[in-house]
Amino acid sequence: MKAVIARNKSLVVDDWPDPEPKQGEVLVKTLVCGICGSDLHALNHGEHFVDLTRRGGGALTYEPDKDLVFGHEFCAEILDHGPGTQKLFRTGTRVCSLPIAVTESGVQGIGYSNTYAGGYGEQMVLSETMLVEVPNGLASDHAALTEPMAVGAHAVNEAEMGPNDVALVIGCGPVGLAVIAGLKARGLGPVIAADFSPGRRGLAETMGADVVVDPKETSPYSQWADFGVPQTSMERMMVEMMGETPRRAIIFECVGVKGVVQQILEGVPVRSRIVIVGVCMETDHFEPALAVTKQLDLRFVLGYSQEEFAGTLHMIAEGEIDVAPLVTGRVGLEGVAQAFEDLAHPEKHAKILVDPTLV
Ligand SMILES: [Zn+2]
Repeated sequence: MKAVIARNKSLVVDDWPDPEPKQGEVLVKTLVCGICGSDLHALNHGEHFVDLTRRGGGALTYEPDKDLVFGHEFCAEILDHGPGTQKLFRTGTRVCSLPIAVTESGVQGIGYSNTYAGGYGEQMVLSETMLVEVPNGLASDHAALTEPMAVGAHAVNEAEMGPNDVALVIGCGPVGLAVIAGLKARGLGPVIAADFSPGRRGLAETMGADVVVDPKETSPYSQWADFGVPQTSMERMMVEMMGETPRRAIIFECVGVKGVVQQILEGVPVRSRIVIVGVCMETDHFEPALAVTKQLDLRFVLGYSQEEFAGTLHMIAEGEIDVAPLVTGRVGLEGVAQAFEDLAHPEKHAKILVDPTLV
């Protein structure tokens, strides 16, 4: 089959062995697959990416100097069932899947594996137990956004936000936008969003952010008083003395760049909760004493559960999350390398979809 192969830190369209479903697996045709920022990083810094994952106990233990086919945000159509499958979904059914292959020798990341090709190829092999059927009528383009939007759903769930809390989303790339959508779909907020890019701020507004801030003009940390969040211990105590529960700030770090955590520690009110969703792969520095003094709660989150994944697909299908504005481009296999270049400019793009049938 034809696929975009990551080879020697570049992307080439070439032949890849036709995938064959083994025990418990199905063969699918890729309908559409989103390009993820992690793929950009994995292409250019494969060794580092794999090393960090391995040290973190993750499953993405492929060999970056060998060929692989990226793509873990996909919608596909079932072509055939392998041995030992329950045939839960008929041939022709459109499905999404967690990008995980459950094999006899362990788990492999689909799109981060030397054997399991991801969605930048014409076909894939998926584990039947990981499949979720696309509800009738939902466009494949929108179903393909389940994976990145599930990241937002998980971050929001892990944040354990209360009805009295105020959310601040730092960074409005695909991850930040998924968090904003996840918050609004659950009726949480108000949501303040901050990003340097006007294009991304526009999308943040479209996804339902209540206040959108350009950090060049206004500090994202200057809004607390407007939302009644006490900033110091003294202010907090005053609220409590009046018999009220103080409002709390929940900050979602969705940038993943060195130095941002320190900025957040500086800017947040006492007793805030900080949820780290952005993946900074460099060694970072911050002053723990700031977090100690403010009694901050830092949480690091990753991925999503099977339940969160399926729930997200259904929320998209039911119109509770509108992902249409996030799709800013569409390419065939030959266009993927250029799309990787384009995604380096946040002004132009949020999500570019790969359609292997497109020439
Ligand atoms: Zn991703």
